This record gives sequence, C-alpha cells and structure tokens, in this order.
Amino acid sequence: MSATLVLVINSGSSSIKYQLVDPVGGHALAGGLVERIGEHDGRLSHTSGEQTVEHLRRIENHTAGLRLVFDMFAEAGQDLAAAGVGAVGHRVVHGGEEFSAPTLIDDDVLASIHRLCTLAPLHMPANAAGIESARALLPTVPQVAVFDTAFFHELPAAARTYAIDAKLAREHGIRRYGFHGTSHEYVSGRVAEVLGRDPAGLNQIVLHLGNGASASAIRGGQAVDTTMGLTPLEGLVMGTRSGDIDPAIFGFLQRSAGMDSDAVDDLLNRNSGIKGLSGVNDFRELGTLVERGDAAAKLAFDVYIHRLRRYIGAYLVTLGNVHAITFTAGVGENDPAVRAAALAGLEGFGIAVDEQRNNTRSKVPRVISPDGSPVQVLVVPTNEELAIARAALRLVRPG
Ligand code: AMP
Repeated sequence: MSATLVLVINSGSSSIKYQLVDPVGGHALAGGLVERIGEHDGRLSHTSGEQTVEHLRRIENHTAGLRLVFDMFAEAGQDLAAAGVGAVGHRVVHGGEEFSAPTLIDDDVLASIHRLCTLAPLHMPANAAGIESARALLPTVPQVAVFDTAFFHELPAAARTYAIDAKLAREHGIRRYGFHGTSHEYVSGRVAEVLGRDPAGLNQIVLHLGNGASASAIRGGQAVDTTMGLTPLEGLVMGTRSGDIDPAIFGFLQRSAGMDSDAVDDLLNRNSGIKGLSGVNDFRELGTLVERGDAAAKLAFDVYIHRLRRYIGAYLVTLGNVHAITFTAGVGENDPAVRAAALAGLEGFGIAVDEQRNNTRSKVPRVISPDGSPVQVLVVPTNEELAIARAALRLVRPG
C-alpha cells in the first residue's frame, strides 16, 4: 500500500464515515459507514472495489468502531496499521476564530478542538472522539484536522458580523463562521478548471444544496459571503432546518408553546425546512408528492426556491458581476427541477439554463447554460473526502 494514501474520517455523534483516498489519482479505494455507535444494533458497511460487506453487532464507542473498520481493511488485504497511510484527514465541523487552515493535530490542537465544543455541541465532541480513536490506533501517522469553517475565516467584517452588542459577541465568539467550506472551496476550484480560467479572475456563486444547504459568494477564490452563520441553521431552507427565520420566533415558541430552548433548537434543526412543511426531507420523495398534486409539498418546494432565489439575488449584487453559478451536493447535482426553478426568468442578468443540458443526467462536471451565455451555469459534483485528503497530504508532504 502506498504511503501517499490518506484515510479520511468524518465522525458523527453515533457514526463514522470513512474513505481511503488516493489524493494524487483523485479516487477512493475503499470506504464505508459505521452507524448506531453505542446502541445495541450497531452496523458497519464497508465497500472495497466491487465488494460490500456488512456487520451487525454492538459497537461500544468510536474506538471500537474504528477498530472494526481497520479489521475490514485487513480482511480486504489492506492493513492500514502495518503498511501505513501517509496521513489521516479528519473533517472537523468548527474551527472557531482559531483555525483558518488545515492543521496538524497535536495535544494542543486537540485541546482547542475540545474547547470549541461549546460552539457546536452536537458535532465537535464526536469529531474529537474520532481524532482520539485514530491517534490511538495509528500513533505514528500524522493526523490533520480540516475545518468546515476555514474557507470562510476571512469573510469581510461586514459579512461576518452580527448587529448585536459588540462586547457580548466578542466575549462569546458570536460571529458568522459559515460551513460546508471544504465543499465551496473544492467546487469553486473545479469550476475554474472546467472553464479553463484563472480562479483569481472569477466571481462565483456556489450553491451547495444537499440535506444541509448553503450558498457562497466567491471573488477571486476568496469567500466574501455565505449563508450559514454561527451555526449551520442560518440561511437557506434545508432538508430538516428552517434556515433564516425571525429570531423572535425562538422566544415566542418558548413563551407561547411552552417549549424549552432544547426543544426549539431541535424543532428548527431537525423537524423544520422541507420536512416541517411537507413531512418528507428527501427531494426525491418531495418530487413524487408534488407530481401527485400534494399542496403541502408544492408549498415546501416554492418556499425552498423563494429563499434560494433571494440569496442568488443578494450575491449578484454583492459580487457586482458574476461569471459562474454552480450547483453541487445531493439536490444540486441531481434535481433539474430545482436548478431550473432557481434560475428561471433571469435572462436579463445574463443567466439562463439550457433545458436539454439541465435534464441530462451525468456524474461529470458540466456547463448547463446555453453556448455564449454571459454567465456560465454549471453542475459540479462535490468531493469533500478528496479535498480533505489533498489538504492533509499537502500539509504532511509540502510540495
Ligand atoms: P447530501 O447531503 O449532499 O448527501 O444530499 C442528500 C440529499 O440529496 C437527499 O436528502 C436528497 O434530498 C437529495 N438527492 C439525492 N439524490 C437525488 C436525486 N436523484 N434527485 C433529487 N434529489 C436527490
């Protein structure tokens, strides 16, 4: 096994998603998912080449989950511990004010990641657990943290600042951090490659529309605005998150519906958005309901598109002139109805979608605007694992 391979780990509260990536060749050799960690019915699904194996058993904690993953690699003839990987790349949700770039993990960095748990209490303890487990199992392999917020660290002050009491905001680290940064950075880089343009000369809007969703405005490779804020709740309507709401709704629900703050938090993050309006959060199911004439599903679609168009309009103004608008992630890559509705009627801004190109299914990056359009509209599959692997390798082997 080549030591230029990188094991990429995305550790959630009860799950570990992983991939063994060849960052130079640009592909994954194997990968899988450990689920229901800590519960009696844990599950591991591991795919290597054409083969997928599944294991159902109790998986005590993240270390036990990762150990099982290593066993799977060994069974498939890839002994991670013995043959060695060049680095382990960890997706870390929140880098706070402290981390603006991929960072080699040592005890101090790990302590900082633990301190940042207050900013993302649902994600960061799990990210830290994944790092601790990987360090224990691969003690001689460099571990790199790649932060979801890093690409937005240098947002202009006007875009990152909430108009609240400045002292209080400073004391508690309240600012707009942005998320999905690894995806926005990767996709905007790919756009420049696909168009054969220097990224420094491109103004871009990237629409990362997955179960979570965010948009960004990027000038010359630098993010100048994004829709997510202190947490991933702000901005676009998402699968289960409300996105922007009047902040007073939070207190109003506490007073009027007798909900405590955890219940409201849960409502807005897990039972709102497309799911809250229609009962389903998957756009494939939403599309089926809309076709059947389901009024709630139609309204959910319309609310989703309305918010998306609002931000596209905002970022057109933020950037002044835009060269490329790109759709990515599960919905953005696969749902032509969303793409068409998001950009309908914008010919006056030089923005158009070619119907046939938009309806053609493909896994490769592609332009879907008509030839000669002033603004290029693209679909570019995101690949956060590859971006993390490349960032990790760059750090441990500069040049
Ligand atoms: P992600 O978070 O990027 O993995 O995106 C997941 C979401 O993508 C799912 O919840 C679906 O809503 C959406 N999705 C995946 N495949 C399709 C498809 N073929 N058509 C429409 N939406 C899709």
